[in-house]
Amino acid sequence: MRLLSRKPVFCTICSKQISHKHKPKKDWGIKGFLCGDCHLDKIKEFYEKKMKQSCLSCDVTKKINDLWEPRWQWDMEGLLCKECFDKKEEDFNKKKSFCSICGTKLGFIRYHPKGKWKIDGQLCKSCWDSNKLKSG
Ligand SMILES: [Zn+2]
Ligand SMILES: [Zn+2]
Ligand SMILES: [Zn+2]
Repeated sequence: MRLLSRKPVFCTICSKQISHKHKPKKDWGIKGFLCGDCHLDKIKEFYEKKMKQSCLSCDVTKKINDLWEPRWQWDMEGLLCKECFDKKEEDFNKKKSFCSICGTKLGFIRYHPKGKWKIDGQLCKSCWDSNKLKSG
């Protein structure tokens, strides 16, 4: 052990010889050791990255506080910017109240298309029935 610790160690990032080794965190994906400066830089970098996220829909990067969580019905994972959230909500409300195929206003009873039909939104009974006949 004594032999090993006397071997000089270099920082993975700046290649400076390190007197005081800093272990990178696992999720940084860095091998070896870091000097104090680089270690601190990385901590800052990852902290900032964690505080920011990009919108699922338009990829704009914003502070997490400025992003919206999608509604559970939308079946999305991640966050949306305000603009995309509003757009999505509008789309969703539109889809929710009209049949995706014929545009009939839907009442209380709606029919969910089967996954393999590749149809977004909901259907009226007659469109659902005809799709069932067509696609099974
Ligand atoms: Zn360094
Ligand atoms: Zn967006
Ligand atoms: Zn319909």
